[in-house]
Amino acid sequence: MTNQDPSTPVAHCVRKFKKQIGAFKSQFPRNKQAERSVLIAFSGGISSTALLDLAVSGLAPREGQHEPVIWKLIVAFITEDGNDLDLCWINERYPNVLVRKISIDSIFDYSSSTYSLTYSNNAIHYCSLLRSSFRSVSSLLLSIPSESARIDIHRYIRQNLLLAIAKQEECCGIFWGDSRTRLASKVLENTANGRGYSLPWEVGICVEMQKALYFVRPMRDIVLEEMREYLTECNLPFSVNREPCGRPTISRLASDYFAKLEGEYPSLVGAVVRTAGKLAFPPETKIYRCGICGMPKEDDAGEWLAAITVNEPAPEEASLKYVERVNTGHEDTFTTCYGCLVALRDCKDLLWPVIENIWVY
Ligand SMILES: [Zn+2]
Repeated sequence: MTNQDPSTPVAHCVRKFKKQIGAFKSQFPRNKQAERSVLIAFSGGISSTALLDLAVSGLAPREGQHEPVIWKLIVAFITEDGNDLDLCWINERYPNVLVRKISIDSIFDYSSSTYSLTYSNNAIHYCSLLRSSFRSVSSLLLSIPSESARIDIHRYIRQNLLLAIAKQEECCGIFWGDSRTRLASKVLENTANGRGYSLPWEVGICVEMQKALYFVRPMRDIVLEEMREYLTECNLPFSVNREPCGRPTISRLASDYFAKLEGEYPSLVGAVVRTAGKLAFPPETKIYRCGICGMPKEDDAGEWLAAITVNEPAPEEASLKYVERVNTGHEDTFTTCYGCLVALRDCKDLLWPVIENIWVY
């Protein structure tokens, strides 16, 4: 990343990265020497490998300049069935970076309890399990009938696990490798999945997700192809991860659409991301959290779904009882966002690891 020619892919990516990282760095006082940890959500793919290299160089102390904050980088890689990588090269190339490999099933180790969730009458009902031998995320996902919903919920399990690790490591930020292409596809995917409310948190450059813990997306202005050129020029290894072929899902359709659009009309993709970046945060001062995905949520998703559902009307009496229970504070329904309510529709006895401390703002 020391290439001086401003026209190279490396110089281009460095410029864009530095521009976006400014908002995050400005959160910390400049008059105090401190060490702060940042978690890098690492998949070994093109975006997160470029992100790692850019972060190592971009956050390193500059020669001869006083830097108030020393950045400690932690690479977090989640292993899953059929998805494991040899990451020895990271420590050889960046000796000061800490690498944490963690199994996705360890989400159950971070959970305070396991709930059995069942969908009925436009709400997710739960009962707490005292003991559970259920320790597999892949089995959990199989309890969700729709493939699109499985991909959607899987993403939030990974996100919740990274949040739990970041909290444990006392990080002040999680860096995501979301490219411009990926963010555009996320706008479409999340909207189609009923997750429009939380979009500002999903695509923002620097968003405070928990108290003093930011989600940072410094690759927002870089397209996937530019990152690929960056990796080639820097001789960095990467793996190509892609959803297995099968029936089209919302996620696959959205990524294919924007990958194609990026080649033909790159400015359109940029316009989608810029427009989404202007979405205002809801004016409410109190933020409600979804008990499943942990994202900020509307405070009336179940009632709203009950009101708009026409294809399988819930018995009126049952819906009213649900509203009554919510109003009187009886918590035998899980407070979920609209997106999770839709994703988990028709699920029965889905065993869910509850991590309460990551949902407290
Ligand atoms: Zn949710």
